[in-house]
Amino acid sequence: MLASLQLALDKRKQEGLLRQRRLLDSPQAEHIVANNQPYLSFCSNDYLGLANHPKLIASMQQAVGDSGVGSGASNLITGHHRYHDDLEKQLAKFVGLPAALLFSTGYMANIGVLGALLGRGDAIFADRLNHACLNDGGYYSLAEFNRFAHSDVMALENLLKASSAKHKLIAVDAVFSMDGDIAPLAEYLELCEKYDAYLYVDDAHGFGVLGEHGEGSLNHLKLKSPRIIMMATLGKAAGVAGAFVAGEQVVIDYLIQTAKSYVYSTPAPPALSATLSTSIRLIAHGDVLRRHLHHLIAYFKNNLNCKKWTLMSSETSIQPLLVGGNQEALALSEYLQTCGILVPAIRPPTVPLGSARLRISISAAHSLDDVKKLLAAIHQAENVL
Ligand SMILES: *Cc1c(COP(=O)(O)O)cnc(C)c1O
Repeated sequence: MLASLQLALDKRKQEGLLRQRRLLDSPQAEHIVANNQPYLSFCSNDYLGLANHPKLIASMQQAVGDSGVGSGASNLITGHHRYHDDLEKQLAKFVGLPAALLFSTGYMANIGVLGALLGRGDAIFADRLNHACLNDGGYYSLAEFNRFAHSDVMALENLLKASSAKHKLIAVDAVFSMDGDIAPLAEYLELCEKYDAYLYVDDAHGFGVLGEHGEGSLNHLKLKSPRIIMMATLGKAAGVAGAFVAGEQVVIDYLIQTAKSYVYSTPAPPALSATLSTSIRLIAHGDVLRRHLHHLIAYFKNNLNCKKWTLMSSETSIQPLLVGGNQEALALSEYLQTCGILVPAIRPPTVPLGSARLRISISAAHSLDDVKKLLAAIHQAENVL
């Protein structure tokens, strides 16, 4: 086995697919120290710049003081602290759904929810570009797993029409993590009504950023229905770690009993929940941050003048620059790095073959000057590469 592992790694390297971890020696922020070098970073999902926010640091220090560092047991034994409970209630209220449940990570939430709500005889309908953990959740559930072309409402309707499954669930990213575009959730909800299906929305990249006060994609699109179950992560715009699922009370009650990644796992430390409670308040009062962020996004889109590579159609923090080849994308990323700017090259299998890209991620922590530096470096790269 070891020899075949080495062979597979060598092959990845030859194909320009070997991934490397950068060693970070600073907090996650717009200016970071990685591999002992200072960089301007357009890499993180910390869209509001909260990961190193002084109020959150103070909040965590205080909460560690009065709740300790560990949860000690699963929620159903003795691990369910008041900080966890308060945060769940706060999150439900914030997103305007009856109840919410915390998970340690978004990955565990998706696997847990799909595995609990669906089984043999049921069917999941998933966008081809969904995040990997929705696929894993689908396989894990044992339900029939149908994938449809990216945001193709007609293709989805045809699948739903042909399905005789007992329970049907449409599971999609709200904002696609490598494309930045928003799913046609209103159309999906109409299909749910028509075909008695439910809608599972993974809002990892919309929560905190979209919506009237950062409530996320559902609020942004003004969608409300008992057919909706939403998931959002708390390690991206919320700046900390974890995830929550929100929906009808009966859904949450059922998940508490049956979602295995919830039942058989130790919850994140209570201090993390206390910190997140502060983070949710900052998000709710973060209109100034969001205005600044959307101004930077618009500035970047309006001022990028690039012929070699195509900026994909996105209104969100995720601004992918489509390059095509793996080595080419890598070369562009490496060129920017020589300019002191970090932007990750995203390659297959994360994105489809031949669509390697730079995933530029803009944060409210950036200044207009940071964005101007990025634009100048891309324009320079176009002449050099
Ligand atoms: C990041 C991400 C997840 C996983 O969330 P974690 O909390 O990082 O495990 C799930 N879905 C989408 C769309 C994501 O981008």
